[in-house]
Amino acid sequence: MLTVWYCIRDQHDWRLVALAGLISCLACTAAVITLRQQRGESQRTDVRWQLVAGIMTGFGIWSAHFVAMLGYDDIAVAGYAFGLTGLSLLVAIVMTTAGFALGSRPGARLRDIIGGGIVVGGGIATMHYLGMSSVQFAGHFDWSPPLVVLSILFAIGPTVPALTMALRRRDWGSGALASVALMLAILALHFTGMAAATVIPDAADGHDRFILSPASMGLAVSAIAAAVLVIGAGAAVAHALAVAAIRAGGREFRILVEGITDCALYMLDPNGRVASWNAGAQHLKGFTSEEAIGLHFSAFYSDEDRALGVPARALATARTTGKFTAEGWRYRRDRSRFWAAVTIEPVIGEQGDIIGFAKITRDVSRLKEDQDRMAALTRKLDAAVTNMQQGLVLFDGDERVALVNARFRIMYRIDAKVPLEGLDMSDFFRFSLKSRSGGVVSEDRVAQSLDWMRACLSQPQGGGSVTVAYEDASVVDASYRALPGGGVVATFEDVSERHRSEARIAHMALHDGLTGLPNRTNFNARLDAAIDRASVDGTKVGIIVIDLDGFKDINDTYGHAVGDNLLQILGARLKAAVGDDEAAARFGGDEFAALCIFRQEDELHAFVDRLSTLLGDPMSIDGLAITPAASLGVSIFPDDGQDRDKVLGNADLAMYRAKASPGMQVCHYENGMNEAARARRAMAKDLREAIPRDELTLAFQVQCSVQTGAVTGYEALLRWHHPTDGWISPGDFIPVAEESGSIIEIGEWVLRRACREAAGWVEPHRVAVNLSPLQFADRDLVTTLTEILLETGLPPRRLELEVTESAIIVDKAAALQTLRQIKALGVTIAIDDFGTGYASLEMLHAFPFDKIKIDRSFILQSGQSEQARAIIRAVIALGSSLNMPVLAEGVEDEEQLEMLRLEGCTEAQGFLLGRPSLDLPDASLAA
Ligand code: C2E
Ligand code: CA
Ligand code: CA
Repeated sequence: MLTVWYCIRDQHDWRLVALAGLISCLACTAAVITLRQQRGESQRTDVRWQLVAGIMTGFGIWSAHFVAMLGYDDIAVAGYAFGLTGLSLLVAIVMTTAGFALGSRPGARLRDIIGGGIVVGGGIATMHYLGMSSVQFAGHFDWSPPLVVLSILFAIGPTVPALTMALRRRDWGSGALASVALMLAILALHFTGMAAATVIPDAADGHDRFILSPASMGLAVSAIAAAVLVIGAGAAVAHALAVAAIRAGGREFRILVEGITDCALYMLDPNGRVASWNAGAQHLKGFTSEEAIGLHFSAFYSDEDRALGVPARALATARTTGKFTAEGWRYRRDRSRFWAAVTIEPVIGEQGDIIGFAKITRDVSRLKEDQDRMAALTRKLDAAVTNMQQGLVLFDGDERVALVNARFRIMYRIDAKVPLEGLDMSDFFRFSLKSRSGGVVSEDRVAQSLDWMRACLSQPQGGGSVTVAYEDASVVDASYRALPGGGVVATFEDVSERHRSEARIAHMALHDGLTGLPNRTNFNARLDAAIDRASVDGTKVGIIVIDLDGFKDINDTYGHAVGDNLLQILGARLKAAVGDDEAAARFGGDEFAALCIFRQEDELHAFVDRLSTLLGDPMSIDGLAITPAASLGVSIFPDDGQDRDKVLGNADLAMYRAKASPGMQVCHYENGMNEAARARRAMAKDLREAIPRDELTLAFQVQCSVQTGAVTGYEALLRWHHPTDGWISPGDFIPVAEESGSIIEIGEWVLRRACREAAGWVEPHRVAVNLSPLQFADRDLVTTLTEILLETGLPPRRLELEVTESAIIVDKAAALQTLRQIKALGVTIAIDDFGTGYASLEMLHAFPFDKIKIDRSFILQSGQSEQARAIIRAVIALGSSLNMPVLAEGVEDEEQLEMLRLEGCTEAQGFLLGRPSLDLPDASLAA
């Protein structure tokens, strides 16, 4: 080291050394500046600046070396070899440039910078020793190898950190340090290198032919140094100007940024505290810059967001991804909130580290409100479309499905996942119809749907609707309307329910509510149709009018519920019984009607039989056994009338006839029935006058014991002497009296007269009085009876009442009760005309009769009919087993009487024993 120091102190001219130092200082400073300049603002390497730095530093080092050499006065320098001098300059420039390029290449790492330093240092050393060898003097240098090595290390050593500081840092201090280090390397190399050389004088040593004289060398070096200075200064000025421009730009930018008022622009420090604050931020957030600066930016968030760590995450995102953007609620100083669009970007410092964040906040509340409004509107529209009662389908201008609502999918059984959008119209119809029918759909059906739609769209209003009935009985109203901008809106409404209720109303208009049978209107229409048909194809129409017997009593006795129930059961039976070409209806109350279209009369008879059977079939209602009964009137189109009203009227007449004839259930209309009806009406009228005019009388027919022939009693038989028609048979006028209701009054007259007469008889014979079923059903019967017995003084045991099965059959329970009450009075009861009814035998078991009167038809036929005799025998046997006396009517000859005696019959009555006589029977006996 001392060698070096002595070398500097003793062997150099100080002024020139100082100049060399100055040159190298300038060169180094210029190098650092230009090296840094080459990265500029764009962060990209600029090759021109590398070249400038290399050339400048190379020149600078070279010229410093030679200026220092000029100050080296240890030898008398003859000059400098031209080639080697040039070579040393070239080496200095090339190696410096190469070192700089390596250290500052894009993406350079530390090892590149170190490598660059070594190359630059090596360049400096190479330049130095080449320069030394270009020195021409009388003698030569003797080199100290350790010092040479040391000088090279000195050249490289400081260059590496110098380059590192120059390239990796950007501040002034590090720049200065880099320059100083580089200068140190140059000077340390130079003086150590000079100290390593010992001059060995030798006059024999010549010099090269092409040498530069020290004077010209000085000139050249000075010129070059000046050039370096100029270039360095130029670079410095350029840099200064650039910096000033940037500064000015920055200032303008700051003014601009700070002046923006509709948007908050501010900086955060790396920890998220506000570092700068523009007017917009103040305007938006309400904090002045004094208040804001130093405030953590999380103050602008909601408490919840803060608790959830939202602000911290935003910074982390900005840090890691380079940008954070979000929208959310932010709060002003007064804690009012606004919807903010926020951007946070990290700001990268000179060392590549994050020195803070730039934050932009805009108030987008308005935008958000608009968006929210739109979203809400869309949601409402969506809800409306989804929940509307109609299925909705929208076709776009290309006739493809654009929208299908949920209701449509439900109606057509299409899963929500199946995409329909985009289908063309025919595919849409094909798919929907197929899905709805759950299977196949014909192409005709698809084409039909398309046709319907086209038809709707071609209507003048641009739309219309079509009602489509499906196989599953559902009905859909499809309406189509063309949209102004092209496209079609289709709605589908399930109107099945409406159609069903319309059908129900239509049904109600044509059907009876209680039984569900067709009503009169409906029946008339069917009858009209049947008549029309009969007029064409030669068929006939049977019309049956039905009226229930004793229905009023059922209603009165058991209540209307039972009555209704009975009607319903009969209705159901009728409904089930009618087949093709037949119909049944309820006209109201206990009135029904039926019709049947037939060719052979047998068919009509079979139908009527079926009806009368089902109408008389016993039934159980609420545990009550009820045997209904009905009267049926039958007429035929065209035989009994030429139009509906006529045949219906005639069937009515026949029904009244059946009703009026006890035991007759069905009556066919006969020619002359109208005349008969008129006559009956006249008779009924006259009959009402019969009692006041005293036209009625009683005949008595004797009843005798079969065994002894003794008189047992007399039957009272009513006789009417009509003022113009003379004697009228009770067989003719009793039914009319029953029909017109006067039978009650007449019956009472008969009872009273019979009892009074019998009471006057000498012999206390029994008197038998016929009771009409209507009388028997009369509630006042027992009271009337009691009064008459008291009034006439006839002992009750002498009175016998004759009733027929038809009096019992309608309402058995009521009949039983009446029978018991009558018997309780002591009056006896005979069952008249026994054997002609249906349930005769069982009736004997159920009712406490005192006598059986075998109908006269059996006795009259007994001579010819074995069957009649068998019946007589059976009835007599039954009577004796039940302990009931049996009276045989209509005994006209001795044979009959003999037969009855043999069979064990109790009593007999007939012309053989005595005709009914108007004379008082006992008058003769008494006489
Ligand atoms: P019925 O109760 O069976 O009365 C017997 C009928 O048979 C009587 O006819 C009588 O004249 C007739 N008759 C008697 N013996 C013979 C005979 O040997 N051969 C034949 N062929 N006939 C005989 P009538 O008087 O014309 O009465 C007819 C029906 O009128 C009666 O039949 C009865 O059901 C009814 N009737 C008569 N009087 C009254 C009455 O006061 N009140 C009611 N409700 N009905 C009456
Ligand atoms: Ca009788
Ligand atoms: Ca009789």
